Amino acid sequence: MNSLLDLKGVGPKLANTLSKLGINTLEDLVCFYPFRYEILKRSEVDSLEQDDKIILDGVVIDYARVFHFKKNKDKMDFQLQSLNHLVKVCIYNRGYLKSRIVPTTKLIVIGKYDKKHNTVVATELRFGLLPSIPIIEPIYHTVSGITSGKLALLVKDALNFKLNIKDYIPIEYSSKYNFLSKEESVLEIHNPTLENSLKKSLVRLKYEEFFLFMLQMQYLKLKSKDSMGLHKEFDFNEVLKFINSLKFKLTKDQMDSINDIYNDFTSIYQMNRLLQGDVGSGKSIVSFVSLFMNYLSGYQGALMAPTEVLAAQHYEEMKSLFKGYNISIALLTGSLKVSERRKILCGIRNHEYDIIVGTHALFSDDVIYDNLGFVITDEQHRFGVKQRSSFKNKGVTPDILYMSATPIPRTYALTIYGDMDVSNIKTMPNGRKEIKTRIYSERDIKEILQSMYSELKLNHQIYVVSPLIEESDNSNLKDIELLAKNMEKAFGSKYSIGMLHGKMNSKDKMSVMNSFSAGDIDILVSTTVIEVGVNVPNSTMMVIFDADRFGLSALHQLRGRVGRGSNQAYCLLISKHKTPRLNILEKTNDGFEISEEDFKLRGSGDLFGIRQSGGMSFKIGDIRKDFSILLKAKADSLTFLNSSLKDKYSDIMNLIVTNHLD
Ligand code: ADP
Ligand code: MG
Repeated sequence: MNSLLDLKGVGPKLANTLSKLGINTLEDLVCFYPFRYEILKRSEVDSLEQDDKIILDGVVIDYARVFHFKKNKDKMDFQLQSLNHLVKVCIYNRGYLKSRIVPTTKLIVIGKYDKKHNTVVATELRFGLLPSIPIIEPIYHTVSGITSGKLALLVKDALNFKLNIKDYIPIEYSSKYNFLSKEESVLEIHNPTLENSLKKSLVRLKYEEFFLFMLQMQYLKLKSKDSMGLHKEFDFNEVLKFINSLKFKLTKDQMDSINDIYNDFTSIYQMNRLLQGDVGSGKSIVSFVSLFMNYLSGYQGALMAPTEVLAAQHYEEMKSLFKGYNISIALLTGSLKVSERRKILCGIRNHEYDIIVGTHALFSDDVIYDNLGFVITDEQHRFGVKQRSSFKNKGVTPDILYMSATPIPRTYALTIYGDMDVSNIKTMPNGRKEIKTRIYSERDIKEILQSMYSELKLNHQIYVVSPLIEESDNSNLKDIELLAKNMEKAFGSKYSIGMLHGKMNSKDKMSVMNSFSAGDIDILVSTTVIEVGVNVPNSTMMVIFDADRFGLSALHQLRGRVGRGSNQAYCLLISKHKTPRLNILEKTNDGFEISEEDFKLRGSGDLFGIRQSGGMSFKIGDIRKDFSILLKAKADSLTFLNSSLKDKYSDIMNLIVTNHLD
């Protein structure tokens, strides 16, 4: 493995930023794949609509003018002759380029086209002209402290090193499919040359990802069939007592799921179970009861959530739920101070904690458990293939429960999870009312604000979500700030407005979430960080702007944040364009039905599309678009496990065995 510090321009600070993206070595860096591509190709100006994205190149024909405003903001404008189009270009905060933008300067401008004023509102300027072959640019996920462009440069540098990049496709399969080598593919996806070779590289890398994932699934299934697990003993009456003390009655499906888990716990085999249920069906309480059973049997239990916000919420909920018991709970996330972390790690090793809740951090190398007997992954579909998540445990084989709303149609779910043991929560808790969903256009804003006001008057809370599709995409952070300002204008005099987005540090995120849970914030303006798991039953209205920019399943997940209590809940979908596919959300609240529709509607083969949130999170594969690759990978992984290949490729088996939670 090569250190990031070997790269020119990377010091400890940047290395630290990169580690937030899971990049710790040069190998990690080159295996950090772009999440989409931008094709730089001259736009056909005449066919553009108002506010469409535009890319033009041409020659500047006048001297740029710069206007200064506020403290250190400026706006520059100039005119550009692009083939037979003369357009005005304006751009913010590039005043420092003024001296270089003079008549005859050749320039590429990228931005939004304000057709009415024949103006390009640019976000980016590049000197030079577009080449005749379109440039394909990789776009990377980022965190604050690094841009996609900077990442691209670092990756390019890293590719010059002699790296140790493992190829996990057995030669038997790569020759069967005529795959490019791993090295070639990695090079190509970071430096795409032609669309066709990029496609070939993607297929190869996707296959590899699916192959490892399916191998792991099949391996787990085979293993749990014949691998000895813990035989847990405890008094089920204690469990019933606990269940009876809850403030609601569990549904039959919840009870059945608890029974399944009880049977697994008390059997001598290891549990590998998937708990499936639509958003709001009440999976959390099943996991809490299971953790309680595990506690009674004397083992530690761990609950892993995909976000810190969700981990913190589970932590708070369990603290209040287990108040009457002598159960100690720790919250372990990546953002703890070193001293706090050390203390908690020590407590985990000494079994001062019975239950540990957290994010990925639960399985960092330095976390040593005394006797971890049970591991739960909440929102399993968010994790995809685990990254080196072996954990140190005193020779114990824990039982494992995955929880997922599985926002994927049955066929896909069956392919992926079909070989696992599954418990299903099909019915919603009693007394739930259907969430009333309605589609609005932006012109209806008055009506929308009125509906919001009616809910606020009832002392209910509201989520307002803006379309920052990729949490790590900086591009429209300003949208949510603007939205928060507008909400402030409309309701600020009487109600309090909070803001939540992925760029905030976790302390701030947590404190906003806590205020919202406590009812101190009435309107929470947020990005999709609230999409998974968040539970504040007093919030009864979900207002989603630019709803047409989300997939249906993502919208269903978002909507699932409301309607979690007995009050009537509403979901307002606001969309600039008429988008018939949104109608299905008005018609049904059934997640499976919605995902079927979602998969049918979104065409296939959209190589450069934005990855939708709400789906399974594979690093590069997309179960819908790449389903045929998935099927091949599944079949191959089965043959692999049932043949001598598994002995020949001990490195692959090693990865599968250690990668998974044991
Ligand atoms: P999800 O399945 O999406 O994770 P949660 O577990 O967060 O859903 O549950 C959603 C809400 O339903 C929570 O507020 C929870 O307290 C409540 N709930 C769960 N089970 C029941 C039940 N049997 N009766 C009434 N409310 C319930
Ligand atoms: Mg949940």
